[in-house]
Amino acid sequence: MTSNKRILILAGDGIGPEVMAQVERVMEWLAARRAFSFEVSGGLVGGACYEAHGTPLTDETLADALAADAVLFGAVGGPQWDDVARHARPEMGILRLRKEMDLYANLRPALVFDPLVAASTLKEDVVRGLDLMIVRELTGGIYFGEPRGVDTLADGTRRGFDTEVYSAFEIERVCRVAFELARRRGNRVHSVEKANVMESGKFWRDEVTALHAADYADVELQHMYADNCAMQLVRQPRQFDVIVTGNLFGDLLSDCAAMLTGSLGMLPSASLGASDAGGRRKALYEPVHGSAPDIAGQGLANPLAAILSFTMMLRYSFDAADDADLIEGAVQDALAQGLRTADIMQDGMTGASTEAMGDAVLGALDRRAG
Ligand code: NAD
Repeated sequence: MTSNKRILILAGDGIGPEVMAQVERVMEWLAARRAFSFEVSGGLVGGACYEAHGTPLTDETLADALAADAVLFGAVGGPQWDDVARHARPEMGILRLRKEMDLYANLRPALVFDPLVAASTLKEDVVRGLDLMIVRELTGGIYFGEPRGVDTLADGTRRGFDTEVYSAFEIERVCRVAFELARRRGNRVHSVEKANVMESGKFWRDEVTALHAADYADVELQHMYADNCAMQLVRQPRQFDVIVTGNLFGDLLSDCAAMLTGSLGMLPSASLGASDAGGRRKALYEPVHGSAPDIAGQGLANPLAAILSFTMMLRYSFDAADDADLIEGAVQDALAQGLRTADIMQDGMTGASTEAMGDAVLGALDRRAG
């Protein structure tokens, strides 16, 4: 029996609770069939929390998140809260969680399942079998750097400016995440910056090189300029295993990589923070998509991004790669049966509701587990 894992589920708004209900079914299956015990608690976040408490995240729920082994997050937001004051908007719930948990490494895999290979805008032979991971630094760089602002020079010229700044410790901690992930995957890291034209890029490259030599010489490291990386992602994406980069380039490159897979409803993510003395790393797992108010309440949402976020939790918080592989295999089987939610519908396939897709994953799990 695997020891208890404390998971906090924050389903949120719109399709968040709908997709999370399917994740909970998968968790129940694991508990029953694989003797994997979870201690699951829930809480309100986003608009749902605002309605109950006048804030998108209560201090109690934040404390629960900080104490949990991992947080599973759905989605927040919706048009009914458009007029709410900025500090109380649903989206502030997730922003505060990321900030207070100091989640500095954002992991976005781009994984192409064989049955969905035609959903990519790229040629099938370019994306078939694609499995790469982008590690984006999330709490530093130009989105937070000072000075920033808009001012007027003595000659009356107006200008706007931001500052790209990375301290050595910020580079080191996110690159450690990337190297350690690579060791569990293909053992290759591409570190991406613009060392040719940016001082901070040159500094990033020097720091990564030193860290690699000191602690990760067993991992293959290559440096790549960000513009070349964008080109290589659409030219030959299978050359990559783990890409690590700063906040700005990561923002662009992870969206680019996401589209290689073809669908928002299939994209999971993880955000990781520091490890405590016992080796427990703060972690929050969430589908990349939002609350999809246009389809909420209709049973149309694709639950697979949320289920795949849960498999990332198994892999990266609980070291349960076998269970993660099993569930990802079941997702592949469900898709291979021809079932499709509306977002991934293709000619000749069978339409499936959120629950029917969950049923198919559970059925495939039963078959795979014998
Ligand atoms: P969205 O991701 O919610 O939806 C974009 C489009 O994709 C919609 O047409 C939607 O129906 C579709 N879609 C998304 N997920 C799907 C799924 N699982 N299955 C099938 N179709 C799916 O983005 P948006 O419309 O820009 O934002 C809606 C709300 O969500 C806003 O309030 C926004 O602020 C919020 N949002 C929240 C998060 C988050 O909680 N982390 C992220 C993005 C957006």
